[in-house]
Amino acid sequence: MRLKSLKLAGFKSFVDPIQIDFPGIMCGIVGPNGCGKSNIIDAIKWVKGELSPKSLRSESLQDVIFNGSDTRKPVSHCSVELFFDNSENFLGGEYLEFDEVSVKREMGRDGQSNYFINNASARRRDVQDLFLGTGLGGNSYAIIEQGIISSLVGAKPEELRSYVEEAAGISKYKERKRETESRIRRTSENISRLKDLEDEVKRSIRRLNAEANLTSKYKKLRDKEKEYQKFILSDDMGELLKLMNESEKENKSIDKDLEKMDGDRLALVAKRDVTKTQLMESLKELEEEQRGFFESGAKISLIEEKEKTVSIRIEELSKEEQKNLANLEDLSKELDSAKSDLSQINEDIMQDILNDSKKVIKKMESDISDKDSVLIEKSLKEFWKKGYQYGIGESGEAVETINALREQFASRNEQIIIDIDSMKKDLVKEKGELSGLIEIRKTQELKVIELRSNQDKANEEMRTIEAEITKLETEKERIVQQRNEKEVNKRTIEIDIKEKQEKLDLYEEVKDLEGERDLIVQDLEKLQKRIMNLGPINFAAPETLEAEKERKETLSGQIEELETSLNKLDEAIRKIDMESNKSFHNCLNSVNKYLEEMFPKLFGGGFCKLDLLDKSEDSGLILMARLPGKKNTKLSQLSGGEKALTALALVFSLFSINPAPFCLLDEVDAPLDDDNTGRFINLVNEMSEKVQFIFVTHNKISMEKSSHLLGVTMRDLGVSKVVSVDVEQAMELAQS
Ligand code: ATP
Ligand code: MG
Repeated sequence: MRLKSLKLAGFKSFVDPIQIDFPGIMCGIVGPNGCGKSNIIDAIKWVKGELSPKSLRSESLQDVIFNGSDTRKPVSHCSVELFFDNSENFLGGEYLEFDEVSVKREMGRDGQSNYFINNASARRRDVQDLFLGTGLGGNSYAIIEQGIISSLVGAKPEELRSYVEEAAGISKYKERKRETESRIRRTSENISRLKDLEDEVKRSIRRLNAEANLTSKYKKLRDKEKEYQKFILSDDMGELLKLMNESEKENKSIDKDLEKMDGDRLALVAKRDVTKTQLMESLKELEEEQRGFFESGAKISLIEEKEKTVSIRIEELSKEEQKNLANLEDLSKELDSAKSDLSQINEDIMQDILNDSKKVIKKMESDISDKDSVLIEKSLKEFWKKGYQYGIGESGEAVETINALREQFASRNEQIIIDIDSMKKDLVKEKGELSGLIEIRKTQELKVIELRSNQDKANEEMRTIEAEITKLETEKERIVQQRNEKEVNKRTIEIDIKEKQEKLDLYEEVKDLEGERDLIVQDLEKLQKRIMNLGPINFAAPETLEAEKERKETLSGQIEELETSLNKLDEAIRKIDMESNKSFHNCLNSVNKYLEEMFPKLFGGGFCKLDLLDKSEDSGLILMARLPGKKNTKLSQLSGGEKALTALALVFSLFSINPAPFCLLDEVDAPLDDDNTGRFINLVNEMSEKVQFIFVTHNKISMEKSSHLLGVTMRDLGVSKVVSVDVEQAMELAQS
C-alpha cells in the first residue's frame, strides 16, 4: 500500500486547496525553513485521528485551521484527505475490493471533526482501526518527527515495547484485549451486583418463609375463630328473632287497645256534641224565657211608676181644687169690697185732680202767651175729663176682673173633678192589668230557675264528658309514646338482625359448631389472645415468597450465564495473551536479529539489542548498544549523530519485521555527517523496496538519492505552495 496523494485545504499554512502527489517510493520534500514542510507531516498525523494539539505543535485543536496572514483572511474550516493505492490488497476485510482507499477528516472552528473513509461518513475509531497493526497505528514508529530521532533511543521502556508490539501486529490484539478486559470488568461488576441482589433475595426468602408460616398459622386460627363467631352469632340471632316476635305481639295488642280507645273517644265526642247541641238549645230557651221575665218586670215597673205619678197628680189636682175653692171665697169678699170702694174712689179722684191742675196753672201763668193760655185751658179741660174717666173706669174694671177670675176658678175645678175621676178609673183598670202581669212574672221566674238549673246540669255533664275525653287522650298519648318506644326497640332489633344476618351470610363455608355457648365464648377468647400474640401478619408473604423464589431462579440463571461468559472471556484473554506474547517474543527476536546485522553495517562493527526490563509478562524494553572500539553501552553518552543512527537502526529493524505502507521522516539526517548521511540514505534506499519513504531534508546527499523531489515554497508570505523540483532547484530552494 502506497500513499498516492494528499489533499489539503485550510490546514495550517496550506490555505488554498492543494493536491500533493507522491509518485515515487523515495519522495524528498525540500524547502526553506518555515515554508510548511513539517505541516505536511502534521496533516498526515491529523487525518489519522490525532487529538493532542501538542503532538500537532499547536495549543488548541482549532489552531490547525489557517489563521490568516498579512494578505489573507483566516478560514472557517480545514480538511485533509489521504489517497492510498490498495491495488495489492494491503488493506483487507471490507476494503479488499477497493484499489484506492481514501481517508478524510474535516473540522470547523467549533472543533467538531467529521471523518470519511472512501467518502462515506465514518467514526474516528473506524479510521484508527484501519491503520492499526499496519505500523501506522497508534504510537507509530513509521512517522519520525523533526528533532525526535535522537530521543528515540532514550524512549521509555513501555514506549519501546509499544513500537515492537505495533511491528508484531499485536496492537490490534491489545485493543481487543482492552475491550475484552473492560467487558470482563463490566461482567464481573454485573455478576457481583447480581450476587448482591441474589443474597438480598435469599435473605428476603428466609424472612418471607417465616412470615408465610405465621400467615398460614394465623389463617387457621382465624378459620377456627370464624366457627366460634358463627356459633355465637347464630345464637344471638335466635335470641333476637324471639325478641322480635315478642315485640311484634306486644305491638299488636297495644294497637288493639289503641283502636278501642279511639272508639271510646269517638263515642264520648259524639255524646259531648249531642249535649252541646242540647245545651245550646236550652240556652236559647232560657234566654227567651229570661227576656219575657225581664219584659214583664219592666212592664210592672212602668205601671207602678204610672200609678205613682197618677196618684201624685190626683193629689195635686185635689190640692188645686181646695185652693181654688178658697180663692173663690176670697174673690167673693173682694168683690163686695170692690163695689163699696167704687163710690169712694170717684170723689177722691176728682178732688186730687183739681188740686194738681191748679198748681200747674199757677206755675205756668208768669210766662205764657194768650195764644198759649187758650191752648192750656183746652188741655186742662181734656185732662180733667180724662182723670174723671180714669177713676171711674178703674174701679169698674176690678169688679169685672174679679168676676172673671171667679169664673175661671170655678171652671177649673170642674175640669179637675172630671180629670181626677177619669184618672181614678184608669188606675183601677191598670191595677187589674198589674196583678195579671205579676202572676205571669212569677210563672216566668220559676221557668227561668228551672231552665238555669237544667243548664247547670248540662254544663256539668259536658265538663264530665270533656274530662273523660281528656283522660282518654292523655292515656292514649301515653300508650302511643310507649308504642313508639316499642317500635324503636323493634327497629333496633331489626337492624341488629339484618347486620347479624349479613355477617352470617359471609360464613357460608364455615363449619357449624355445636356446644354450649359459655364454653364456646371462653374458647373464642383464648383463641383471640393467641391471634393477638402472633403479632403483625404479612398477608402478602406467601405470594411475595413465590415471586421472590422466581426472582431468585432468574437471578441464579443470569449469574450462571454471566459466569459462563466470564469464563469464556477469561479464556479469550488468555488466548490473546498467549498469542500476543508469542508474537511479541518472535518479533523481538527478529528485531534483535536484524539489529545484530544492521548495526555493524551502519557503524562498521559493535552491537545493539533490545532487552526485556524484567521478567513480567508485559515488561518494558531497553535498548542496549556498543559502538565499535568503544567501551560503554550507555546510550545517553552517545553523540547526537550516533543516537540518530542507532535510532534509525532500530526503526529499520522494526520495518524489516513489519513494513508500514509508508514512512515519514522529518529531517532525520540533520545531525548526521556526510558519511553517515550516505549510510542512512543507502539504508533508506535498500528499505524502499518494501516501504515508501517520504522524507523532509535539507541534505544534498539525501536529495540526490530521492526518486522524486517536492519543493515547498512560501512566495505569498504565510501561504504554502508545492512545486516539483530537481536536485539543483531543490538545493537552491533549500538555501533561499
Ligand atoms: P523548518 O525547515 O524550519 O523545519 P518547515 O518548512 O518545516 O520549517 P513548518 O514547521 O512546516 O516549517 O511551518 C511553519 C510555518 O507554518 C510557520 O511559519 C507558521 O506560521 C505556519 N503555520 C503554522 N500553523 C499555521 C496556521 N494555523 N495558519 C497559518 N500558518 C500557520
Ligand atoms: Mg520542519
